[in-house]
Amino acid sequence: MPLTTTLATTELGRRGFLMGTAVGATAVLASLACSVQAAGAATRRMPVIFIGHGSPMNAITDNAFTRRLAAWGKELPRPSAILSVSAHWLSRGATGVGIQERPKTIHDFGGFPQALFDIEYPAPGHPTLARETVGVVKQAPVIATDQWGLDHGTWTVLKHLYPKADIPVFQLSIDYDKPAAFHYAVGRDLAALRDRGVLVMGSGNVVHNLRATDRGTPDGPSASRPWAQSFDDAVKSALAGRDDRALVDYAKLEGASIAVATPDHYFPFLYALGAAGSSERAKTVYEGFQSGTLSMRCLQFG
Ligand code: ZN
Repeated sequence: MPLTTTLATTELGRRGFLMGTAVGATAVLASLACSVQAAGAATRRMPVIFIGHGSPMNAITDNAFTRRLAAWGKELPRPSAILSVSAHWLSRGATGVGIQERPKTIHDFGGFPQALFDIEYPAPGHPTLARETVGVVKQAPVIATDQWGLDHGTWTVLKHLYPKADIPVFQLSIDYDKPAAFHYAVGRDLAALRDRGVLVMGSGNVVHNLRATDRGTPDGPSASRPWAQSFDDAVKSALAGRDDRALVDYAKLEGASIAVATPDHYFPFLYALGAAGSSERAKTVYEGFQSGTLSMRCLQFG
């Protein structure tokens, strides 16, 4: 089965807004095999995290957000692997799981300084756990593929969380043909990996509308626009009561039509929410806005 991957979103600094730009990369079905091999010694049930990643420039910027990421990485238990669901790997027709031994660092943006393109995040992959993940996810179809790597939704934040790049990382794509409830359900499936020492990480932004950012606005605790603040507040409120139904049905929340004009950056949050046990409290690790309207809300469950 072919897996069409779509580079869906650009970031701040790129010329124009290229939402939905397909790079035309067609992933090759590498294997449908589901490995049942033991994947590692780690047995502690790992937390689940969600990170609002914002601009790729955060990879090389010292600010309150990136300093918090660095501190967070020291607080978290050391995982045997990291499974990242990034807003920047969107697929159609299937959910892909990266099985590379050495996933490449993908610089999936344009219009940024060369220093950003020079960054490599050389973490190894984890083919065994990745193949196991194909079997863990019951929301079919799921395929193993070697046709992606680590996109900037993954490496710009892991660079701060785990700067040594010594923990295996693999990505799972977002089947963009599917509705919000599907992504939440895949997250529920992924919860099983937590007992294998896997840190499930969603990387997107709860509020993300690149056409409605206020560039040049200093980072701050509040949004520059009411709709961004309202939606972020509504998410925070729903999280406090673990009203997952409201969060999956996000389009009804105040400000959603602008705050989640396209759901690519919201969906990774639903994977994290799904992977979190229903009784696990959402701990706010970071909150605030960049460029006026980008919610940098970061969460930990468990
Ligand atoms: Zn992004």
